Amino acid sequence: MEYPNLLPRFLKYVQVNSRSDEHSSRFPSTKREEDFQKQVIMTDLKTLGLNDVHYNQKSGCVIAELPATIDYDVPVMGFLAHSDTADFNSENVNPQIHRNYDGKSKIKLGDYEFYLDPEVFPNLKNYQGQTIITASGDTLLGGDDKCGVAELVTFAEYLLNHPEIKHGKIRLAFTPDEEIGTGASHFDVDEFGADFAFTVDGEAPGKLDWGTFSAAQFELDIQGVNVHPAVAKEQMINAIQIGIDFHNQLPHEEVPEKTEGRQGFFHLMNFKGTVDNAHLDYIIRDFERDGLEKRKALIKEIVTKMNEKFGTERIKLKMWDQYYNMADELAKRMDIVNLAREAYKSEGLPINEDPVRGGTDGSQLTYMGLPCPNLFAGEENMHGRYEYTVLESMYKAVDVMVKMATLNAINNK
Ligand SMILES: [Zn+2]
Repeated sequence: MEYPNLLPRFLKYVQVNSRSDEHSSRFPSTKREEDFQKQVIMTDLKTLGLNDVHYNQKSGCVIAELPATIDYDVPVMGFLAHSDTADFNSENVNPQIHRNYDGKSKIKLGDYEFYLDPEVFPNLKNYQGQTIITASGDTLLGGDDKCGVAELVTFAEYLLNHPEIKHGKIRLAFTPDEEIGTGASHFDVDEFGADFAFTVDGEAPGKLDWGTFSAAQFELDIQGVNVHPAVAKEQMINAIQIGIDFHNQLPHEEVPEKTEGRQGFFHLMNFKGTVDNAHLDYIIRDFERDGLEKRKALIKEIVTKMNEKFGTERIKLKMWDQYYNMADELAKRMDIVNLAREAYKSEGLPINEDPVRGGTDGSQLTYMGLPCPNLFAGEENMHGRYEYTVLESMYKAVDVMVKMATLNAINNK
């Protein structure tokens, strides 16, 4: 159905700059993000009359509660959306509304010679007759995740205005720093008080994410020996060359640019060096947990062998896990996934459960004790100037949340 306040609310939110900053040492990473949470989101939630609206300093989250409209207990459901936007220009976002899109034309982005072309972005063809919202060419839109933020607030508004809809207690959280991957680790699961939750931060209607990569990261510090090249024979040890030799022992086909679907990879993200020393940063991704462990073991084995040859620890390895595939945990809680499936189905949506070639806040939260798949929010072409969203997709996202609230009450009666 149509929610008249959703579009104005979304337009208001995207015009507030709340970009996070991975180089910051404060938490949340930027003051503008915290201001957006406290001055905009929190104010809106208080105005609507939600319960327990507050800012949790520890987790950097705005929290709110929708009181139950039933007189029996059901598991407490939560919804989360992140307040920050990605690493792309977010100053003076000027959203453009393209009503009744014909499903085939290019959409010009503001005064710039950039176009949303359905031949390049074929999803556009699915939105004939619908309302497309874009930025104006020089910024991102910020629909990731202001779609989710506006949808959560609209969902709350709708349920507050319709007390005849039967549902249990629902908790909402507006989280920081998702885009820099550090927000979820601060989340206060106990204080939030939900039995399970959903992040609302996904793509087109029907997308349901409950499988993600398992992820690790490692870095190599390599110490060489620098002597004058004229007299270098059997004396110089070139740290750059050691880095190259290491890299060449990894499977050449298992890199991001040659993998897709359920295939994992090793990704060299950064390589800098001199003859004297070199530094390499990698991430490792695999959908299977034992696949991740095998990849980690391979790295250790290569480094150990190379160091043995040098007779000293020329290569220092530091490796750590980042997050795990939530599917392994959710396999024990399929009732949660099924609740979303049931809601999608009853809203007539096709269900797309392709695993995410990345992580979500939910990947960490699930392992912190809050099972947390991800629902669609209507985001398209995230993280750049071609970002757009579709108003009707956002309506659908709210419909799904309302349906899930009802189903959770009915199924647990
Ligand atoms: Zn996002």
